[in-house]
Amino acid sequence: MPVRVVLVVEDNEQNMELATYVLEEAGFEVRQAVDAQEARRELSRAVPDLVLMDMNLAGTDGLALVGDLRKNPAHDELPILALTAHAMRGDRERFLEGGCDGYIAKPIDVKTFVGEVEAALARGRQRRGPKP
Ligand code: MN
Repeated sequence: MPVRVVLVVEDNEQNMELATYVLEEAGFEVRQAVDAQEARRELSRAVPDLVLMDMNLAGTDGLALVGDLRKNPAHDELPILALTAHAMRGDRERFLEGGCDGYIAKPIDVKTFVGEVEAALARGRQRRGPKP
């Protein structure tokens, strides 16, 4: 099985280190971006298998960045999970409507983190359609 690549977009150094460590221990290749510019650069080099996107980047609304990335057809099948420290009622819907496929709450729980990433990879891109 080819090594799966996760792009972590996170401006907090400790969260970045922890996410990277846990994912690499689980056999993932991790690419890192600390801001929107780096995220765009990484995505233009190669599309990863999944993106973890901090919703509160310095100077950037992570969800707005996701919406912008979704305009590129090359990212049609790319699963994106929001990383957020402030998941409140309604946030899940807001993230999904904004182009994310789910979210992981911070602080990162090392016992469940990889499982959540694996589940998101298994589900793939969650398209929002009209309600039946
Ligand atoms: Mn942040």
